[in-house]
Amino acid sequence: MRVLKFGGTSLATAEKFNRAADIITHNICHSDVSVVLSAPANITNGLVSVIKNTILHGEAESQVFEIKSIFNRLFDGLGEMEGTFDKALLYLELDKILNQLMLYIQGIKLFGLCPNNIYARIISKGERLSIITMSVLLKARGYSTFIIDPVHYLLAKGDYLEAMVDIEVSSVNFRREPIPRKHIGLMPGFIAANEQGELVTLGRNGSDYSAAVLAACVRAECCEIWTDVDGVYSCDPRLVPDANLLSSLSYQEAMELSYFGAKVLHPKTILPISRFHIPCLIKNTNNPQGAGTLISNDGGEDNLAVKGITTLNKLCMVNVSGPGMKGMVGMASRVFSAMSIDGISVVLITQSSSEYSISFCIEANDKQVTQSLLQDNFELELKDGLLEPVEYIDDVAIVSLVGDAMRTEKGVASRFFTSLAEVNINIVAIAQGSSERSISAVIPNDKVSEAVKACHENLFNSNHYLDAFIIGVGGVGSELLEQMKRQQAKLADQGIVIRVCGLANSRGMLLDSKGIDLNFWRDALVNADEPFSFPRMMRLVQQNHIINPILIDCTSDQVIANQYVDFLSSGFHVVTPNKKANTTSMEYYQQLRNAARRRRRKFMYDTTVGAGLPVIENLQNLIAAGDELVKFTGILSGSLSHIFGKLDEGKSFSEATITVRESGFTEPDPRDDLSGIDVARKLLILAREAGMHLELEDVKIEPALPPNFDVSGDVDSFMSKLPEADAYFEKLARDARSEGRVLRYIGKIEHGLCSVNIQSVDVDDPMFRIKEGENALAFYSRYYQPIPLVLCGYGAGTQVTAAGVFADLMRTLGWKLGV
Ligand code: ADP
Ligand code: ASP
Ligand code: MG
Repeated sequence: MRVLKFGGTSLATAEKFNRAADIITHNICHSDVSVVLSAPANITNGLVSVIKNTILHGEAESQVFEIKSIFNRLFDGLGEMEGTFDKALLYLELDKILNQLMLYIQGIKLFGLCPNNIYARIISKGERLSIITMSVLLKARGYSTFIIDPVHYLLAKGDYLEAMVDIEVSSVNFRREPIPRKHIGLMPGFIAANEQGELVTLGRNGSDYSAAVLAACVRAECCEIWTDVDGVYSCDPRLVPDANLLSSLSYQEAMELSYFGAKVLHPKTILPISRFHIPCLIKNTNNPQGAGTLISNDGGEDNLAVKGITTLNKLCMVNVSGPGMKGMVGMASRVFSAMSIDGISVVLITQSSSEYSISFCIEANDKQVTQSLLQDNFELELKDGLLEPVEYIDDVAIVSLVGDAMRTEKGVASRFFTSLAEVNINIVAIAQGSSERSISAVIPNDKVSEAVKACHENLFNSNHYLDAFIIGVGGVGSELLEQMKRQQAKLADQGIVIRVCGLANSRGMLLDSKGIDLNFWRDALVNADEPFSFPRMMRLVQQNHIINPILIDCTSDQVIANQYVDFLSSGFHVVTPNKKANTTSMEYYQQLRNAARRRRRKFMYDTTVGAGLPVIENLQNLIAAGDELVKFTGILSGSLSHIFGKLDEGKSFSEATITVRESGFTEPDPRDDLSGIDVARKLLILAREAGMHLELEDVKIEPALPPNFDVSGDVDSFMSKLPEADAYFEKLARDARSEGRVLRYIGKIEHGLCSVNIQSVDVDDPMFRIKEGENALAFYSRYYQPIPLVLCGYGAGTQVTAAGVFADLMRTLGWKLGV
C-alpha cells in the first residue's frame, strides 16, 4: 500500500484537483493506494475567519460566501473537465455542510464564544468536502473508492486542536476493518477522534501528520507528500530563489528542519513513519516527473554538512533570572511545567552556565498567558527578590541550521555567526542541540530574510549576488556598464551574479531590484522620471532585503563623496574612483574607515591613484607587513606626463599643451591639470595611506606654469596666452638638457612633507623615461631602498579606470571567493 497526501496548494483549483486525480490513478496501476487530502487552499483560513468574525461582529457573511464560491468554482470546473462528474450531488453536500455551519454560527453568536470542540468541527469541514469531491471525481473516472473516516479509525489524545494519534490502537482499528481491496482509500487529513469519540484536529498544517499516521497504521511501503514545490529545499524557496533541492534527508534531519520551521512538512509527520522505517517522498503535483526528496533512515548522497536553513517567526523571548535560580533544585522544571500545563509550547531554551538565568522562546500570541502564568506561579519568589521581574523581548525569530554531518564538520558555527554579522544582525541568544544536528540563533524578526539569504550565500554553494548602484554614467561609468555587460555571463558560470539595481546621473535615477537590462540602460535612463535620491535607494535595499548592495560613485562630485559614511553605515560597500572623499578633512577620512569597519563593509578606492595600476593595494600590503614609507616620488598625471615628455622632443610648452589637449588627453580645461591640484590629491591619498595625518592645504603645490602666470579668463583666452609661458619652459629645459636631465612634473613625499612641482631628473631617476601618458610611482621604504619599488604603466583612460573599478567591485566579495 502507498499513501499519497495532497496539500491544499495541490487542490486549489479544478485543474490542480484534476491533476491530483491523475497522479492517484497513475499510481493505482502499480499498487494499492490510499489518499489523504487537505482542504483546498484558503478554506481552513476562511473557516477560522468565520469563527473570529462571528465572535467579534456577530456575523461572517462574506467569509461564508467566499468559501461557497471557492467550492462552486471547483465543482463547475471539474464538471467541465469530466463529463460524468456528479456536480449536483456535490452541491447538495456543500449545502448540507454550509447549513450546519450556519447553525454553529448562530450558536457562537448567542454565546459570544466558540468552545474548542466546536472550533475543531468547524475548521475541519474543508477536508471532508475535499474527500467527497475526490470520491465523485474518481467514480466518474470508473474507480471504486472507500472513505476512511478518521473519527472512526484514528484514536487521538490531547487537546481538541492539537491531538496526537495513538498508532497502536488505531492500527488495530485498520486491522479489524481493513480498506477493501481494489478500492482507493480516501481519508480527510487533519482529523481524528478522542476517547469519547468526539472529533479532534491535529494542529494547523496537520494533514501531513495524518498521512504519516495512516502510513504507519497500515504499514505502508511508502508515504508520498504531494505539494507545490519539487521537494525539500535548503531553505524556503520563496526567500532564496536559487535554494538547493535536497535529494535526500535522514528522518532526524527532516524532523529538525520541520520543527525549526520548514513549512513543507508538519513537525509531527516524521515520528510515525520513522518508527516503522517507512520511506517518505516529497513531490511536486505540478511536476510529477521530478525526483522529489526522499526522507529515510539514511541522510543519503547529498554529502552536505548543513542540509537546510529554517526560520520560526513572530516569537517572544522570555528571560527568567534572579539569585533564586542558582542552586535551587527544580526551578527550571517549575518554569516549564507551568508552561506545559497551559499547553504553551516552548521552542528553544538556553541557560547561562552560572544558572543565574533561563531564556526561552514562545509564540508571540502566547505572551499574555505566559505573563500571567509566571506571575501566578512565582508570586512569592518575585516578591522576595529571588527572581527579578521577568523580561520579555518581543518581535524575535529563530534561524536554524540543520544537518546530521554538522557534528563532524568544523567552522559551521563560525560561518553562521559571521554571516549574521555581515548583514548587521544582532544575535539575541544562541542554542545548539546536544545532537549537534542543529544550531539556532534568536534574532530580530524583521531581519529574517537578510539572515537566510546571507547564511545561504555563505554556507551553500549558491550564487553570490553583487547588487550595484552606479552614480555617474560619464566616461568611466558607461565604460564600466559595458564591461559588466560583457562579463556577466562568464561570472554567472562561476556563481557570481552582478545586477545593476540602481543607475543615476545628474538628471535622473533608475531603480530595479531584479537588475536593469544592460542592453537598454541608456534609453531607460534618458526616460527616467525620478531624480537621484539616496533615501529611495535605501528603501529599495530594505524592502527587497538586498544583502550586498554596492555604491559605485563614478562622479567627481564632492556632495556624493560626503555621503559615503551614510552609505557605509546603511550597509553599502563603496567603490569609487572619485578622489574627493579621501582628500576631504582628516576627520572625515577617519569616519569613513570607522563606518566601514563597524558595518563590516568595504571601502574601495584603488583607482583614485594611477587609475588601473594596483597602487593602493600594494602600498597597503607593504604597510600591513610592517614596512614604512621613507620617500615617494611619482608622476601621477597622464596629461602632464604627455606634456612634459613632448618638451624632451624640443616642442614648446604651448605646442605640447595644445597637441595633448587636441588628442583628448587633458581635461577640457587644461588648467585643471596644470594647476597641480589633481596630483596633490593623489599625493595626499598616498601620504594618508602611509599613515601621515595631513590635510590638502599641507601639500605644497607649484602649478605646471611659470610663477605668477595669469590663469584668469575663459579656456580660449587662457590657451591663447599660453605661448607667453614658452620662454620660461625653454630655459628650464635647456638648462636641464645641458646636464643630461629632463623636466618632469613630480609629486614627492619626504620627511613628512608633500610637494608637487616641476623638477629636472637625471637618467638614473625612475621618472626619467616616463612620458606619453605613462604614470610612475617610486616607493622608497625601509625594505625598498636604495632601489625603490616602482609601479608604472598607463595611469589614465576610461577603459583602465573602469577595469580597476570593476576589480574593486569584485574584491568586495573578499574571502567568499577565496581571494
Ligand atoms: P501544502 O499545501 O502542500 O501542505 P504548504 O504551503 O504547507 O503546502 O508547504 C509548501 C510550502 O512550504 C512551499 O510552497 C514553500 O514555500 C514552503 N517551504 C518552506 N520551507 C521550505 C523548504 N525548506 N523546502 C521546501 N519548501 C519550503
Ligand atoms: N487544512 C489544514 C490547515 O490548513 C490542514 C492542512 O492543510 O494540512 O491547517
Ligand atoms: Mg502543509
